[in-house]
Amino acid sequence: MTGSLRGAGRFAHPKIAGFGQSVFTEMSRLAREHGAVNLGQGFPDFAGPDFVKEAAIAAIGAEQNQYAVSHGEPALRKAIATTWTPQLDREIDPETEVTVTTGATEAIYAALQAFLGPGDELLAFEPFYDSYPAATLLAGATFVPVRLHAPDWPLPHEALESAVTPRTKALLLNTPHNPTGKVFTQAELEWVAAFAKQHDLLVITDEVYDRIVFGDAVHRSLAAMDGMWDRTLTIGSTGKTFSLTGWKIGYTIGPAALNRAVRVVHQFMTFATSTPFQMAMAHALTVAGTNGYYDELSAAYERRRQLLTDILIAAGLTPMPVSGSYFLMSDVSKFGFDSDVEFCTWLIREAGVVAIPPSAFYQEPDTAPLHARFCFAKSEDTLEDAGRRLARIANG
Ligand code: PMP
Ligand code: GLN
Repeated sequence: MTGSLRGAGRFAHPKIAGFGQSVFTEMSRLAREHGAVNLGQGFPDFAGPDFVKEAAIAAIGAEQNQYAVSHGEPALRKAIATTWTPQLDREIDPETEVTVTTGATEAIYAALQAFLGPGDELLAFEPFYDSYPAATLLAGATFVPVRLHAPDWPLPHEALESAVTPRTKALLLNTPHNPTGKVFTQAELEWVAAFAKQHDLLVITDEVYDRIVFGDAVHRSLAAMDGMWDRTLTIGSTGKTFSLTGWKIGYTIGPAALNRAVRVVHQFMTFATSTPFQMAMAHALTVAGTNGYYDELSAAYERRRQLLTDILIAAGLTPMPVSGSYFLMSDVSKFGFDSDVEFCTWLIREAGVVAIPPSAFYQEPDTAPLHARFCFAKSEDTLEDAGRRLARIANG
């Protein structure tokens, strides 16, 4: 999906030549075009909580509509600091150790601009969230993927050891992990912490699905491990937690020096993030800490995960185990297609269901395993509709 360099396209700088339209935009377009059920792009198709939406309406009514403080409204930074104190096992200073961004996407971009430049290498696990390599390359740095392997996606110790070089500046880790649903274990994170210390790496951890974990899995943060606070920037997003992805309220947490660097980039990218939505999320985090919201959220996701697992099994789509996030990966190799893109295109036509081809999350898409990613951040009605449609492929 390379951008056109004809006509006005010739003005595009070669540095963006390798990037086209995101796989999410393309698959959501196909979903609309074919009237298909969209289990592709990761966003809830059900309503976010009323208490949060009402807080945004109230903030707009109360004229909280001008530019926010560049690094985030004080009320929201305070709520983020309070919310993360138990998880990170330390007092967090909202003034210097938290920065609000326009979604986790901006946090990732700003962090990679702030910390990487030509000659630097970034290690990240593959399959990866698609903005990581783009943001790395636009910072002029080199993206070095280290592959995780299905179905359990264990930490690849040896591959990490061979990928690290004197130019490696940082490691980007995502837990719970999109698209695999892996939640890194305590032992794995301890190993990564020792590795980061040994090679003096900065660690950026993308923890946007921190509240969506299942069964025995526990979400742990690298920043809480011994000696890691000073070299770790944690990235979060309220969009997933409150099922309001369109509001784009994300944040970074970490030592003052790391936040200072992120803030420099943030102030020239967006300067500030939408004021009323920040105020509403400050309220959301404050209330959710005491009203059982997080338990309800994970229980509802547990039901959706089970429903989609059953549907995929019935359709012969072999889902892999998932411990966190709202994605399920299926092994679709037995369908005999040459690529996951061909499989997903066929699935839209034959069943009217959209999944994401995860090859978009591999540096060399041709070498990606034949998987398909299904999103279960969908109402039970939507999932059941998908189930009826997928029965068509099960019945031949
Ligand atoms: N990181 C991961 C792993 C994601 O899946 C997403 C979006 N779904 C983001 C970051 C971006 O989050 P936001 O919508 O807050 O920009
Ligand atoms: N993170 C979402 C996903 O993985 C999509 C977000 C986007 O469209 N950029 O599906």
